[in-house]
Amino acid sequence: MEFKQHIKEVENWPKEGISFKDITSLMQNGPVYKQSVDALVEYARSKGADVIAGPEARGFVVGCPAAYAMEIGFVPVRKEGKLPRETVRVEYGLEYGKDVLTMHEDAIKPGQRVVILDDLLATGGTIEATIQMIEKLGGTVAGIGFLIELDGLGGREKLEGYDVLSLIRYE
Ligand code: IMP
Repeated sequence: MEFKQHIKEVENWPKEGISFKDITSLMQNGPVYKQSVDALVEYARSKGADVIAGPEARGFVVGCPAAYAMEIGFVPVRKEGKLPRETVRVEYGLEYGKDVLTMHEDAIKPGQRVVILDDLLATGGTIEATIQMIEKLGGTVAGIGFLIELDGLGGREKLEGYDVLSLIRYE
């Protein structure tokens, strides 16, 4: 299945010079959406995932249906202030300023194999922060799967040493 043809590229959005990869066009096509999630499920299975983790909001788009299909749990990674109980938190750098991601501190049990799923790998900052929290809780990052990977922004390099799969790549 060639998934790339189902992604719409929006030039100069959200700002000048950015070519935004819009996954909503893929999601709108039921069979294609299902096949892309199925490919990530196959990957997560091959990595022996005990649980799936995904950063808000688009990580939920691929992570929740994958966890459902595998009948395993899903752990939401959220911006600060969104999770009601005790959390672990990591600050990470953005292009301008910084942001904070959090996870419930009982979300991962020590020794669990976690597969992280997200829509898109760019600089890798979001996933690096997610990895730090999973490892702080004693989990093992068994693999990381994306719908889309943007080459040349350093994401792959940042995730060196981890197993990474992406279904679609852009130069
Ligand atoms: P990173 O932390 O720099 O790897 O950025 C990845 C996050 O930014 C993903 O979770 C995406 O939701 C978002 N993102 C960055 N560029 C795009 C894009 O072109 N399309 C959709 N999401 C994007």
